[in-house]
This record gives sequence, structure tokens and C-alpha cells, in this order.
Amino acid sequence: MTTKPASAAARATVYGYPRQGRNRELKKAIEGYWKGRVTADALRATAAGLRRANWRDLAEAGLHEVPVGDFSYYDHVLDTTVMVGAIPERHRAAVEADALDGYFAMARGTQDVAPLEMTKWFDTNYHYLVPELGPDTRFTADPGKQVAELREALALGLTPRPVLVGPVTYLLLAKPAPGVAADFDPLTLLDRLLPVYAEVLADLRAAGAPWVQLDEPALVQDRTPAELGAAERAYRHLGTLTDRPKLLVASYFDRLGDALPLLAKAPVDGLALDFTGAAAAQLDALAAVGGLPGKRLVAGVVNGRNVWVNDLAKSLATLGTLLGLADRVDVAASCSLLHVPLDTGAERDIDPQVLRWLAFARQKTAEVVTLAKGLTHGTGAISAELAANRADLASRADSALTRDPAVRARTAAVTDADTRRSQPYSERAAAQRAHLGLPLLPTTTIGSFPQTTALRTARADLRTGRTDTAGYEDRVRAEIQEVISFQEQTGLDVLVHGEPERNDMVQYFAEQLTGYLATQHGWVQSYGTRYVRPPVLAGDISRPGPMTVRWTAYAQSLTSRPVKGMLTGPVTMLAWSFVRDDQPPADTARQVALALRDEVVDLEAAGTPVIQVDEPALRETLPLRTADHPAYLAWATEAFRLTTGGVRNRTQIHTHMCYAEFGDIVQAIDDLDADVISLEAARSHMQVARELAAHGYPREAGPGVYDIHSPRVPGPEEAMALLRKGLEALPADRLWVNPDCGLKTRTWPETRTSLENLVHAAHTLRTEL
Ligand code: GLN
Ligand code: ZN
Repeated sequence: MTTKPASAAARATVYGYPRQGRNRELKKAIEGYWKGRVTADALRATAAGLRRANWRDLAEAGLHEVPVGDFSYYDHVLDTTVMVGAIPERHRAAVEADALDGYFAMARGTQDVAPLEMTKWFDTNYHYLVPELGPDTRFTADPGKQVAELREALALGLTPRPVLVGPVTYLLLAKPAPGVAADFDPLTLLDRLLPVYAEVLADLRAAGAPWVQLDEPALVQDRTPAELGAAERAYRHLGTLTDRPKLLVASYFDRLGDALPLLAKAPVDGLALDFTGAAAAQLDALAAVGGLPGKRLVAGVVNGRNVWVNDLAKSLATLGTLLGLADRVDVAASCSLLHVPLDTGAERDIDPQVLRWLAFARQKTAEVVTLAKGLTHGTGAISAELAANRADLASRADSALTRDPAVRARTAAVTDADTRRSQPYSERAAAQRAHLGLPLLPTTTIGSFPQTTALRTARADLRTGRTDTAGYEDRVRAEIQEVISFQEQTGLDVLVHGEPERNDMVQYFAEQLTGYLATQHGWVQSYGTRYVRPPVLAGDISRPGPMTVRWTAYAQSLTSRPVKGMLTGPVTMLAWSFVRDDQPPADTARQVALALRDEVVDLEAAGTPVIQVDEPALRETLPLRTADHPAYLAWATEAFRLTTGGVRNRTQIHTHMCYAEFGDIVQAIDDLDADVISLEAARSHMQVARELAAHGYPREAGPGVYDIHSPRVPGPEEAMALLRKGLEALPADRLWVNPDCGLKTRTWPETRTSLENLVHAAHTLRTEL
């Protein structure tokens, strides 16, 4: 394929870059500042150094425009809250006393003042701080950070483009402030917010910004006509300002849908669109609206959320098609590179051949630059890059890691019957009742018990070689003994082994499955200074041997009460990993499900009467567009049923999810066909029990009665009151008694008393039934 040179030189850019630095210097400096070990000036100097280093890397890689303002001490939505002066009342004094300390107080709270709520940034694993707004909110422009960072980049001789959260997305992500009516719609503040954005834009222009990017990812979700109308109004207003830089309205994570024609017509100077994944369909939509005559199109053709090398030829073809559809076409990653690790060059333990399939932020930047060059000068100008890329893609497609014939044969042979238990729930329930002999209102926990210092030390010692495997496993067995004997003494009915051998509920399994890779430095920001290192699901998945059986069997050998086996479900195994992009996720999920199914069957054979398959990620991976929900839920629930479908009637399958709002997936929860589900409910006063009942959920459920996110110990009366509420919704023979979630972040003293109270509450209520 050859591409004709574009009329104007295509520029290469990105919308944001990992903030932490090569060795997570930012995390260390911020946490040092919190502990009083690093001064504010030292922290500022570290931050400025990291910004400079990033810009220099980006410019040296050949980017024509570098993003500015994407840097953050904690979160870019919180930075926007500061920029528009929407400081919550309770934090105002702290912010006025010291801007930096006040900023961290909003992010983390203080002894006396609650932080802003934190929630997921769209369907990523990044969390932002939710703006709190009300009818009395008055915005004021405070663009100090944005202007200062712009000046820093200009001083380096770069072409910077400030990146801001757009006004519509900002309001759509906000919630009513405490004390404000729950039905208050923050979008009603748009007319008050726009003049503030106008002021910020004027200041950025005055400081030397030719372009400013306004991010509107909220417009890739389903939006009401009123919300679309607000977006139209916002960009008519900002677009017709006289004192403004050129405006680039950016969307990412999915397609714009109904917002596309509206933004295409808006008096702004450019649009940034995502052409990866589900958003690739946007190409036709763009043609259908007649393209973007007179506008700049920034085409996100390098996936900014996965870790895989781009198919350069395919991207060039997309870019070639786009050439005719806009005044000029520039090249970018689909979204900020914040969501991927920094550099594959830092990895030492991954096979060099396999490493060539991976692209982190640094490699993705190089891909964007290559594509812009190819688009400008024709494919001849990048023939070496194209040849190398072809070779890497071919090596990936032909590798034994990505093509395991045994796994493929087995996946292809899956039948519908494999995804169903042999009997319907009602018959299984009777068999389980007879087999388990549990009392009414059976008590259990969600799996993990406090991860003690002794345990963490033992794990660290194992890593550094100070302890050998035998010594470490002795420690794990000692923990299991303690957990089992505590549960017996307390009188819990279905026991757990406490998960002491697990560092993380996904990583633990990923390390034992063939097809997953671990990185050494693949950190991505989850929130604030918390970074996670997701495993890379690179190849066909198989299970060389049992993963949990010996620990569960050991626990069962210590007690005559039933011990519950504990696994992470297939959807969560995908959601909290970087998943291969060379086959549909449904196929990958099926492979993981089959590996887990073997574990489930092995647990049963080893005498495990109850097995819990956790799926806390089921809801968070819901596609952004509701039109895509049914297809997702079909493969997700099928993967769960394939995992659990191989056991006898009398084996009881539990599942667990950690949230209280699940209205949009209640049917999917039903479709999992688990025998028992535990859910978070303590804070919402058993609302989930009422919702399950309203749906006609026919199985057993354990709405949590102990909020494990707080160090508070609920008394027996409190648990009893919650259980009474539960009993109003669900019959006594279908109600379980358990905490909201696992106990690994709690301390032993809290856990002990809370569980004693929980058991006491269940025992008291049983005598009343
Ligand atoms: N079994 C896990 C635990 O108890 C479940 C954790 C979760 O739902 N996130 O820790
Ligand atoms: Zn949970």
C-alpha cells in the first residue's frame, strides 16, 4: 500500500504522558512531603524536573506539539476544580491558608474534614476526585497552574498545547455537594461556568498558547438531548469568543455518536477523535456528516490504553481515508498515555522477542511520530519502520505463546451444556442444603483476613531471598491455622482460609497461568500516589497445575466446618490486566474460564463443598455505550458459567461483587446462575436486598452488614437492624450474613470484634424466626 503525501505536513502529538517518572520519583516526593521529609520547594522542584524530562523526551521523539497541564500532583479533575474555583466549603480555609496542603486535603481528607469522593475515570482503572457542586456554587478563574506550566514549556522552546478538562465533561462528572438535593443537576451551572473558561482561555492565549485542547470524553457516553444541547451551547459560546486561542475539542475512549454532528458544526477549530477499538466505526460516521471542512482533525489511531504495538499499515490506511475528510489531519494516541506504563525499555525479564510486541508510552509516542511522517512524506519515508512492524506483528501471530493448539482446540469445543450446571437452581439448592446442613442465616466472610506485618515481611523476605519457600509456606500455614481457629471459636458457619498467600487477587493467578506476563516497571497510576502494575495477558491461557487447592485443602483439614474455596473470576482476570488485542475479549475470557474451571473441579475433588468466584469487575467493564452492553454481558456471564458449570449439584457456588449500585446489571447477576451472591450493602442500608427482591432474584444473597472500608466496629444491634431490613426483602432461608468485602485492609482487633458482633446478631435473629 502506498499513501500519497498529505498536502500539509501532519503533526504528531499526544494528550498526556505518565506523570510518575522513570523510578516513580513523583510518588516518592509527594509521599515524602506528606510525611514531612520533603519540603514543598523540593517537591515543586522534583515536579518541574519531571515535566521538563517528559517534554524533552516527547520533543526528542519528534512530537510537533507537546501537551501541557496534564501533569498533576494528584488528579487532573481536582486540578480543574481548583482552576474554576469550585473548592468545597469545608476545604476553603485550608486552601486559603496553603494552596498545596489544601489541595492534598481535598484529595485525602484530614483528621476532621472528609476528602472529595473518588471514582473511576470512565472505564479505565484511573480514579478522579468528584467535583461537588450546588445551586450556590460560584466559579472563579484560577488558571495559575495552567499558565505556569505553559510558560515552562515555552521557555524550553517547545510548541505546547494546554490540555484542560472541558466544561461539559467537568459538570457531567460532578455530583451534588453534601447538603444539596440529590436531584440537583450540575449541568444547570453551565452558563456560570463558561465565562470562567473564557477567562482561562484568554489567559492561556495571552501567555502564548496557539491552541488549547478541551477534553470532552463524557460525550462518548449515551447523552440525553438536553445534555447534547448543553454541549452545543457550550461550544457555540466558547467558539465565538474573540479573545481565545484555537480550540481543539477532544474525545476518546469511544465514539461520539450523536455528539459528532453537533461538534462538527460547532465554531471550534479542531476535533480530536478516537479511531481505535469500538470507536473505529467513527470513520464512517465522520464521512456521513461530511467530514470536518475547514477544521483540524487529530486522529487517535494509536491505542492509548493497551500495551500492544500498533499495526502501522492499518493505521496509515485509516489516516489516508481521513485525509479527504478534514482541512488537515494530525496524528495522536487515542487518549492520554497516562493509562499505560512508561517504557518497555525498562523491562529486563520479558523475552526480547515478546517485548517487541509491546508498546508503552514511549514506544507509542514513537509510533505516532512515525505515522505522521508516513502521512506527510508517503510510506517510502518510513519503509524501515513498516518492515520492522510487519515482522513484529508476524512474530506475534505465529508465536507458540499466542497460538497454543491444545487451548484452541478446547475452546472451540465448548458447548452450551458446558456453560450450565446440570440442574436448575431449585434442585441444586435442595442438594446443597442436605449436603452442607447450614442453619438459617448462615454466616461467612468474603475471603481475605487481615494481612499482618509478619505476613508482609515473610513475603518481602521471600522476594529478597532472606527466607526460602519452605520458611514462607510455614508462615502461610500458621496464618491459616490462626484464621481457621478464630472462625471456629467465633462460630462462623462457612469458613475461609483467609487468602494469606495472595498479594493481589489477579496477580496471584496471573503468575500461575501460562499466557500471562509480569512486568518489572509497568506501573500505571490508579489514583493519587497509588500505582498498580497490571499483568499482561499476552497469550493463550492454560493452567499448568492447581493454583489454590493445597491451601484450601489444608484449611479444610483443620476443621469439620465447610471451608469455602476462593477464586478470581474470568471477567475480573481480564479487567485488571492489559488484555491482548489480537482476538475478541470474549475468546480470551473463554480461555481464562476454562483454566479456572479446572481449578473449580479440582477444588471440588479435593473435598471443597463451597467455592466462591469473585467478580468485582463485572460492572466496571460495562462498555460506555449502552448499545454495547448486551454483547459484553453475554460473554461475561457465559465465561462465569463456564468457570463454574462443571461441579455437582451439591457443590455450592458463591460469587461476590463490591458495590451497591448494580441496577443496570441485575439481570446479568441472575444470568451468572451462582447459588449465592454477596454484595456491598452496609452503607446503603440493604438497598441491594430490596433491588434483588424487586427483580425476583430467586437465589441466595448476602448483602453485607459490616462496612469494611471503615475502621468502625459495628455493634450487634446495628448488624441486627440491617439484617431485619434484609429479611423484609428476602426470605430467611435465602439470606446470608457476611461483611461487605474482604478484610485484608482491616486490623485484627477490629475484625475480631466486628465478626463476633455479626455472628451474635445472626444467632439472636435465628431464635426469633
Ligand atoms: N475474596 C477477595 C477478598 O476477600 C475479594 C476482594 C474483592 O472483592 N475485591 O479480599
Ligand atoms: Zn469486594
